Amino acid sequence: MRYSSLFLFLFFLVSCATPQAVPTPIPSKTLEPATETPEPSLTPTKLKTATPASTPTQVWVRRGPGIVHCTILLYHHVAISPIESQYYIHPENFASQMKALDEWGYTPIPLSLLVKAIEEGAALPQKPVVISFDDGRMDIYETAFPIMQEYDFPGVFYIISGGLGDKDLVGVDELKEMAEAGWEIGSHSHSHADLSKITVEASYREVVLSRDVLEEALGFPVTSFAYPFGTITEKAGQQIHIAEYESAAGLGHTDSQGPGNLFYLQRRPISWDYDLKRFAIVLGWEGPLSIEETSTP
Ligand SMILES: [Zn+2]
Repeated sequence: MRYSSLFLFLFFLVSCATPQAVPTPIPSKTLEPATETPEPSLTPTKLKTATPASTPTQVWVRRGPGIVHCTILLYHHVAISPIESQYYIHPENFASQMKALDEWGYTPIPLSLLVKAIEEGAALPQKPVVISFDDGRMDIYETAFPIMQEYDFPGVFYIISGGLGDKDLVGVDELKEMAEAGWEIGSHSHSHADLSKITVEASYREVVLSRDVLEEALGFPVTSFAYPFGTITEKAGQQIHIAEYESAAGLGHTDSQGPGNLFYLQRRPISWDYDLKRFAIVLGWEGPLSIEETSTP
């Protein structure tokens, strides 16, 4: 049969052409929705060895362009709360959550990589997650940053440009150190004003000029914005584009990130009273919690 001869010939060609080197990731040609087929050899152990910020290994698969499923966590403080506040995550709880991410096979990625996947497609780990922080609190540098460094987890830190270096807020030195470790720095406005309650001119300062202030102080590009209180207005939305941010982050209840919400990425605030069970629900993790729960009321 001619077909079987042809098949054998093709098989011979393919066999000869197969490189002996370490297999590289094969980008999926499928566009949206992103490839969801897990690699057969994928194990949580392998994911733990994935390098989040730079070199994709064979377990990373191409996602996007289009909608990419990636939970974006949002924290404000990692410290023992002086008051009863939902914004303060106890350091032990935060450490448990980072350990859980690691054990459950999640790989924190830079926000810019998620944006790249949405816009043009990019190789992502099987279970990507972005860890974001608002307000520029010093306790994030002092407590969250070292805990995340143990796992090589990058974060994105949204800074109030008018408060740079103020009491209890990080300054240029801390931010440069974090950036060198793979963190990304975004603008969280100039004065943390509610953008829905100020004039167009004041909003311009909060959205557009805050980027200039941060870039001048830090000496590297600031490409993302986070709306104070998660509040977006039509004028602020226009100013985001005037400032040429590549993305902007708001609040939400989904892990669905895509071209339609690139300038209002959905973030899941983590509250002070979340135990690992609740944390797992936020991530959509359905496996065993496996590590001892830390519950600090
Ligand atoms: Zn804020």
